[in-house]
Amino acid sequence: MIKRVLPKPFQYFGNVRFFLFSLCLIIALFVAGVFFVLYNRTNALLTQRIHEQAVSYENLIRHTKNWNYNYGGVYVEKRPGVESSAYMLKLGMNPDVRTESGTVLTIRNHAIMVDEISQQIKRHEGVFFRVISRKPLSERNKPDITEQNALESFEKGAREFSRTELAGGHGAFYRYLVPLQVEPDCLNCHSAQGYKAGDIIGAISISIPISKLMSEINANRLLISISAILTIGILVGITYFLTWRLVIQLDAAQKSLKKLASTDELTGIKNRRQIMKRLDEEFSRASRLGEPLCIIIMDIDHFKKINDTYGHPCGDRVLKQVASLITENLRNYDRIGRIGGEEFLLVSPGSSIDDARTLAERLRQTINNEQFGEGGCRFSITISAGVTALAQADDNVDILIKRADEALYEAKQSGRNRVVIS
Ligand code: GH3
Ligand code: MG
Ligand code: MG
Repeated sequence: MIKRVLPKPFQYFGNVRFFLFSLCLIIALFVAGVFFVLYNRTNALLTQRIHEQAVSYENLIRHTKNWNYNYGGVYVEKRPGVESSAYMLKLGMNPDVRTESGTVLTIRNHAIMVDEISQQIKRHEGVFFRVISRKPLSERNKPDITEQNALESFEKGAREFSRTELAGGHGAFYRYLVPLQVEPDCLNCHSAQGYKAGDIIGAISISIPISKLMSEINANRLLISISAILTIGILVGITYFLTWRLVIQLDAAQKSLKKLASTDELTGIKNRRQIMKRLDEEFSRASRLGEPLCIIIMDIDHFKKINDTYGHPCGDRVLKQVASLITENLRNYDRIGRIGGEEFLLVSPGSSIDDARTLAERLRQTINNEQFGEGGCRFSITISAGVTALAQADDNVDILIKRADEALYEAKQSGRNRVVIS
């Protein structure tokens, strides 16, 4: 199986991507939710505003109509353009009076008054209202389709009716209607239409142009959408940036911890745990594939004396120097680790016993030729080495180590500064 190689900051935190993605998704959903509620609430407030406007127009009409009705109509001067009530003329009543001074007045009943005020408000404010009748006496009071629907709903008991609609090329309108019921007084004029008290006689119909409101709602929608996208972008960006930075820092900390855990602090080469782990791996691999594997255990001769003579810090420097001399002389696939105070283990995969012997001998000579110490106090040291190769019968690493240790022991016993093969 091919192992997926993760980019640098994700070496130890591979699943941080999923975490980051989930976090950003939650933030995006939360912000989108907040803005959605905000958008709906603003729309509801704008619609409520227009509804309240319609209700106050309705109050105004009703009071005006009642005011007129309570007076039984009011007289206005019959100037040019002021017509007498055609309805009264039709009923055979005279709508006009002449005053003593000769001025002619004509009566305006509640229906005509509402109609005329409606015309005036329409001219000035674009709001249109009128009284519609179920059984209209004139074309003016005839309901349109929306008003028919409203009347039908009033028959079923509804107390008001509202709807937003597009009226051809005139833009959008908010339609608002409330029912008009027959009161006993109404029958004076409307009994001929077959009404009885309590019947729905018609409705007060108000149409408020809302094209401006609709464009406000659209602008509001655009503004909220842009704000939502920007907020989500900024929050997700900040979250992504901060988390990414944290991951990089954690990753670096993790790396240095790993290095600390696997490196010998004094010499910088692998520590005992790490080189033994490596040996285990190479042992399994070589056993499985039947490939050669050699190990070399090296020990500095009479190192105690160096400490005793030149001091412990000097001994430390010698250890470092020996470690770097060995490292410089290794092949790419050889591995070295410090397994004891002044004891080193070299794992050499793919080497025959002769290769390993040559290598051990070269290391021994290199170290022997090197000068240690500082200033006027220079000295040389020697090492002893035990070398062994993986044999078919070796079924665990300990056997290999034991054999190399025995070879090393023999090297020490036979005079030190030498390489012994086992
Ligand atoms: P031999 O030739 O038999 O190996 O003799 P030796 O003196 O090298 O071996 P011995 O085991 O008697 O002594 C090893 C010494 O290494 C003892 C200890 O003080 C020293 N040592 C172990 N670790 C360190 C270290 O980290 N720094 C220093 N400076 N000395 C150390
Ligand atoms: Mg020693
Ligand atoms: Mg030793």
